[in-house]
Amino acid sequence: AGTLYIVATPIGNLSDLTVRAQQVLASVDVIACEDTRHTSKLLQHLGLHKPLLSVHEHNERDRIEQVAQLLRKGQSMALVSDAGTPLISDPGYPLVQGLRQLGLPVTPIPGVSAIITALSAAGLPTDRFTFEGFLPHKAGSKREKLEAQAQEPRTLVYYEAKHRILETLQMMAEVFGPERPACVARELTKTFETFYHGTLPEILAQISADDDQQKGEFVVMIAGNPNPAPSSEVDSEKLFRLLLAELP
Ligand code: SAM
Repeated sequence: AGTLYIVATPIGNLSDLTVRAQQVLASVDVIACEDTRHTSKLLQHLGLHKPLLSVHEHNERDRIEQVAQLLRKGQSMALVSDAGTPLISDPGYPLVQGLRQLGLPVTPIPGVSAIITALSAAGLPTDRFTFEGFLPHKAGSKREKLEAQAQEPRTLVYYEAKHRILETLQMMAEVFGPERPACVARELTKTFETFYHGTLPEILAQISADDDQQKGEFVVMIAGNPNPAPSSEVDSEKLFRLLLAELP
């Protein structure tokens, strides 16, 4: 059978496409992509013409059988998303899971992801971190999620869209408090790449001060809680063991 290659593409700077990614895109029979218009532009830049197959969250499950058939016929395919690594806050998970279940080969062609790019230059602890992707849009669910993460000792990493960045930073400052070291990375690898450092209220002030700072794409990183409060939930298994020891 042919292979499905999961190919990472740039998050801004086109020179970040790896040599191997370019070779694989040139060699495959079909390219599955999130948005055909977006991927056409990348292929045009590379001087490639390939049949495209759209794979997005609404049709992904229906595509599994179609992709499996192409691979069984010996065709090779690449999956790309609009930016960065597919499956990372992007389509691809049901497809890869489905192909794995069918025993078909899936091979990663690694490259850029905004999470790792942001963390690598943020100056926050990177030995342990937790990637939370996008927060819920609704204020209530967003606050609930943040509250559940307030005791997390690992560095927290989030993706956020420009029209929600101020509101999200404001809520983070309320939930995590005014002391936590944080970093926001904007427009990574692009002309207006900017890193904002400081506490959450300090970063919020810097980004609110100027409309231009609210443009583009954002990764928000917050240092973990150095003194997490002990969990208030009862550890039922521990309780059971204690009770058992007391029984005659
Ligand atoms: N698959 C991508 C990856 O591997 O990073 C992420 C796709 S997700 C739909 C898009 C989000 O990633 C943006 O809203 C932003 O939070 C983050 N992102 C992508 N490119 C970025 C960039 N150049 N600078 C900062 N954040 C970026």
